[in-house]
Amino acid sequence: MTAEIVLTLKGERWRRGGHPWVYRSDLKSADSSSSGEIVRVKGPGGRLLGQAFYNAASKIALRWLDDDPEKPIDRSFWEERLKAALRYREEVVKESTAYRLISSEADGFPGLIIDRYDSALVLQSLSLGIDRVVPLLVEILTGLLKPKAVVARNDSPVRSLEGLPVEKRLIAGEKPGRIEVTEGNRRYLVDVWEGQKTGAYLDQRENRLRARDYARGRVLDLFAYTGGFSLQVADRAEEVLAIDDSEWAVERLKENLALNRLANVRPERGNAFDRLRDLERAGERFDLIILDPPAFARNKQEVPDAWRGYREINLRALRVLAKGGTLFTCSCSYHIGDQIFLEILQEAAAGAGRPVRLLESRTQSRDHPILLTHPESKYLKCLVVQVAG
Ligand code: SAH
Repeated sequence: MTAEIVLTLKGERWRRGGHPWVYRSDLKSADSSSSGEIVRVKGPGGRLLGQAFYNAASKIALRWLDDDPEKPIDRSFWEERLKAALRYREEVVKESTAYRLISSEADGFPGLIIDRYDSALVLQSLSLGIDRVVPLLVEILTGLLKPKAVVARNDSPVRSLEGLPVEKRLIAGEKPGRIEVTEGNRRYLVDVWEGQKTGAYLDQRENRLRARDYARGRVLDLFAYTGGFSLQVADRAEEVLAIDDSEWAVERLKENLALNRLANVRPERGNAFDRLRDLERAGERFDLIILDPPAFARNKQEVPDAWRGYREINLRALRVLAKGGTLFTCSCSYHIGDQIFLEILQEAAAGAGRPVRLLESRTQSRDHPILLTHPESKYLKCLVVQVAG
């Protein structure tokens, strides 16, 4: 028998807004024996609202699966959802062998991420309910895609909030070495075991390709990681200075430059804040600056500090831009919304005392879809601005 969970009136109203999470505080009662299971959800008046994964131990107690309370959530249910996600990627992913195949709630898989790196799949399961379905999903995907390896990068601390072990594990196939993938005309190597996230920052894929259009003269790529942006812009630029404070990332960046035979990119290990200050003092000027920092605000409390951090790097970047130069500036902090990020740029422009025009406002690549009723699924912001004078 499927367990039933009853919402408060507030919970029912919230659900009507379409948000795929229901918080513990919006449930009428708890039933820890059903944690990890699929439950039927009812409103306080007894109306059946649908089915969801339940976890009594998590603040996010319910993760929505379907509005139909009777639909069997079985193999064919999952198979259909997987196939739909694959079809969507065929539509939106061009020129790349590395992309996000499953983007959690936005694809109907609460808390599950699956990235494809050529013939390897790398997954991250961040909720108790989906974690139990992973073996079935891997089996179906193995049949559909025949991957050479399936790796679980379950080393995110978020898992402990769900009571799940934090680990890296080979699920199927052979442990992969560095995997070569393509993006546009470039190739790069991904270490799905040691790299950040599942190995690469796939959410910036379309932005990297777009940055090519703004490349010329001298380019500064700050927070370069393994060279994502540098690789794309190098052949349009005279020279590129690529800076990251991780020695591991800079070594991988060098390998990627060699792989693409690019001689005009200078990799450097350094702190972006300090290096921007040095460059300003030295009177250096760049025609394109890319800023792709890690999330400065991981929660609401960190927003004020993050605000100052973003303002400082953007202000300094605007100061070292040549006349007519372009700043391609990003923030992946969900808690810094579109409007706040724009305000930060306004403050930076005022501080720099230069006329700055907004050319484009961009977001994450389409293989990281944005579900309108799940605001948390939109987190990446990139503004392209130009110093007019
Ligand atoms: N632009 C990259 C992804 C950048 S991720 C791409 O497209 O692939 C953010 C990077 O910032 C990480 O590689 C991290 O090592 C680096 N980083 C974090 N803090 C830094 C700092 N203060 N100075 C320089 N690099 C930093």
